[in-house]
Formats: sequence, C-alpha cells, structure tokens
Amino acid sequence: MFDYLIAGAGFAGSVLAERLATQLDKKIIIIDKRNHIGGNAYDYYDENGILVHKYGPHIFHTNSKKVVDYLSKFTEWIPYFHKVLAVVEGKKIPVPFNLNSIYELFPQKYANKFEEELIKTFGYGQKVPILKIRETSNSELKFLAEYVYDNIFYGYTLKQWELKPEELDPSVTARVPIYVSRDNRYFQDTYQLMPKEGYTKMFERMLSHKNIKILLNTDYKEIIDIIKFNKIIFTGPIDEFFNYQFGELPYRSLVFDIQSINSEYYQEVGTINYPNNNDYTRITEFKYITGQHSKNTSIAIEYPMRFELNGNLIPYYPIPKKENNELYSRYLKEAEKVKNVIFCGRLADYKYYNMDQIVARALNIFEKEIFL
Ligand SMILES: Cc1cc2nc3c(=O)[nH]c(=O)nc-3n(C[C@H](O)[C@H](O)[C@H](O)COP(=O)(O)OP(=O)(O)OC[C@H]3O[C@@H](n4cnc5c(N)ncnc54)[C@H](O)[C@@H]3O)c2cc1C
Repeated sequence: MFDYLIAGAGFAGSVLAERLATQLDKKIIIIDKRNHIGGNAYDYYDENGILVHKYGPHIFHTNSKKVVDYLSKFTEWIPYFHKVLAVVEGKKIPVPFNLNSIYELFPQKYANKFEEELIKTFGYGQKVPILKIRETSNSELKFLAEYVYDNIFYGYTLKQWELKPEELDPSVTARVPIYVSRDNRYFQDTYQLMPKEGYTKMFERMLSHKNIKILLNTDYKEIIDIIKFNKIIFTGPIDEFFNYQFGELPYRSLVFDIQSINSEYYQEVGTINYPNNNDYTRITEFKYITGQHSKNTSIAIEYPMRFELNGNLIPYYPIPKKENNELYSRYLKEAEKVKNVIFCGRLADYKYYNMDQIVARALNIFEKEIFL
C-alpha cells in the first residue's frame, strides 16, 4: 500500500516524491513511461564519454536562492554562463541582441548613433522590448527594432512554431528585447550553474530513499488498477488524464540530431541560432555547457516539428495561443473537481516552465497544499 502514486519522474514528480518521503515519511511509487528518471532533463554519457542532454540542452539559471539551496542537497555545481550567437547576414552576432551585436552588423558611424540613442532613451543595462522601441518617435531606433524583428525574430519564430509572430499570443512578441548592454551572456540571473555530475546523477540522489519505489517503462494507466495507493500526483498531460474529452491540447515538438564530432570543438560558443536559413533552429555543443574536456565533442542539431498524438514525437512546448489557454482552462475546471489528485508539471499545467520554476512550483505545492 502506497501513500502516493506519482506519474512522471521529471522535476515535478521527483521533487514531490523526495519531499513526501523525507519530510513526511510517506511511501511513494513513482512511475515513468520512459526507461529513465529525470524527464526532459535526463542526460547520459555517449560513446565518446561526452555528457549529452537527450531532450535538448538544459541550462540551469535562476534568481531563487530557495531553489538553489534545495537542489544543492543533491548536487554540487559548476559555474556556467551560457552564450548564444545568431547567424545574420553571414555574421555571427550575440543574442539577445545587444550593443555588441549592433557593432558587428552596422558600420561604426551608425552603430555609434544607435548606441547613443538607446542609452539616452532607455538607459544602459535595460532590456527593452522591441515593441516598445517601435512605439517611440525616434526613427533610428524604430529602424533598429524593425531590423531585429525581421532578421532575428521573424524567421526563428516561423521555424519554431510554424506560425507568424502575429498568430501567437502577443506576450511572445512582447518579450523580445534589445539589451542595452555589452554583456554577451544569454541569461542575467543571479545563479547560473550546472550540476557538476549532470542532471541524472542529481535525480538519482533525490529518489534514493527507502520509501521511494521507482517503476520505469510503465504508463501509469497500466498499473493504476493493480497497485493500492491513497493519492495521485499527476505530472503527465492533463488532456490525457481526462481522456481528451474536450479535445487535444496542441504542442510543438522537436527532433534532436545528436552527433559525435571527431575534433576538439565544433563551434565558438554553447549555442548558435540559425534564424533565417536551414531547417534547424539551433546547434548546441554540450561540452561548453557541461565543462568537460575531451579531444572529441558532441552536438545537438534541433529541428522543430509538428506534434501529433499517437505519433513518435514528444510533446515539448505548449503553443502560446489564446484558444489553447481557453481549452486548458476547461481541463483545469475538471481537475479542480477531482479529489485526491494533485496536478503539477509542464504537461499537467500546460505551461512552459524553466527548471527552476517547476522546482519552485513543486516545493510550493508541497508546502501549501500537502504539508498544511
Ligand atoms: C528543448 C527544451 C529545452 C529546455 N531547456 C531548458 C533550459 O535550458 N533551462 C531550463 O531551466 N529549462 C529548460 N527546459 C524546461 C525543462 O525541460 C522543464 O522545466 C522540465 O522538464 C519540467 O519538468 P516536469 O517534471 O514538469 O516535466 P518532464 O520533465 O517532461 O517530466 C514529465 C515526465 O512524465 C512522464 N509521463 C508523462 N505521461 C506519463 C504517463 N502517462 N505515465 C507515466 N509517465 C508519464 C514523462 O515520460 C516525463 O518523464 C527545456 C525544455 C525543452 C523542451
């Protein structure tokens, strides 16, 4: 007899399993249909001994000390500042688009002018959404905002979502910034770290407790009528839980072509984006992220794809559109009626979470809804 059956051994399920076992002495069975723990953060060593992220590059960054303190129980860290370049007009420029990007692309005279106007209007260090810049009366800045929209944002969005920016929720476009800074780091969070021995090792430590049983290669539906338990924590797709009664929640998928390369390095930085040409959106070289040294290297080439139910692809990104959020709200209302089931996770909440956000959400559920 288990106190909790947890469907899904990603961050959401594993954090809750760990808290329930260690803080409340609850007995847990955690089930995943994949053959490993860690969900989308799973990593493994490939044939050349390079640590690769099976479901795409995962870079940990957060402003939450609470989340870092919690995860530090299960891992040591190495510092890592992610850098991304985008190929634009044959040049590789830093993204988010910043003052250095301007100097890479425009002749010095114009670049000086853009820099001066940006600092004068918004101040050094500000991240200014291009939509806001488009609204100014300054024609030079408007030109710059249009340039970033057309040459970096538009093509990438079309490939990533197979939708034009105006077909997505306006909040997506609203977030694209020009960073009035010389800081080439992709993130500016207080904590920018990678787990020293990888994510999978961290998950192994989280779940290594006498009260936690792990069952892999199993869909929770296969055993739900066989195993005895009191409550469910569900971290899978919420529409699946309710047998798609209102219809499917749409997702975007990806295919990662992971390749071993017989040379020390493949590219200049962790990730290079290809907003305009090629079918793929970006190439990531894992060694930069994991801090490994080796005479070989491994990369992941990322191809956005349509997700179809019953196909082979994985539902990755909820598609940010108003009608999809409305459909999710109908499922959420059903979820609120169900007793003894807690829904948590990117699939259960139909929400894109960064890793720190899902850890914070799981800790919050534990503190506010379980440990009353
Ligand atoms: C390409 C990509 C890159 C990302 N990069 C970053 C990054 O750089 N930094 C960052 O902070 N975040 C990143 N993220 C986000 C990160 O992956 C999520 O925050 C995290 O995976 C969410 O954890 P979760 O437990 O909610 O979901 P998941 O990790 O997806 O775990 C859910 C688990 O449930 C299992 N499951 C589903 N249905 C069933 C079922 N019926 N029965 C049994 N098991 C089931 C799945 O197999 C899965 O293992 C990225 C996401 C993607 C897609």
